[in-house]
Amino acid sequence: MSTPQKSPEEPELKKPPSRDDLPTLEDLFEQADKLREAIQNHAQATGIAVTYTPPPAWPTEPEPQPHCTRCRELDEQRTTARRHRDMAAVTDCNVLLRRHIKLDHPAERAPRAT
Ligand SMILES: [Zn+2]
Repeated sequence: MSTPQKSPEEPELKKPPSRDDLPTLEDLFEQADKLREAIQNHAQATGIAVTYTPPPAWPTEPEPQPHCTRCRELDEQRTTARRHRDMAAVTDCNVLLRRHIKLDHPAERAPRAT
């Protein structure tokens, strides 16, 4: 069986990259190290300070307050939703719990992550 000759005007179909085509994590870390070094060299040579601001911390889930039935109810709903891998429902429970804590337990509110 011979392979069919492609005509020149036929567009070449791109195969999706296979796992073997992707760089390894070690390669990526090495590239990141080289990039970091290049940025430092550039900063030293030009005198332009390069600052890195880490991204803001991901907000943590609200903690149910002890001895509160509404908190426990929402916490149980959230646990059930997570068990069913229904992350939209988990998010809904977090929103409701956060709102409830803000309204009904204003003193216990945890400081916001900055
Ligand atoms: Zn509560």
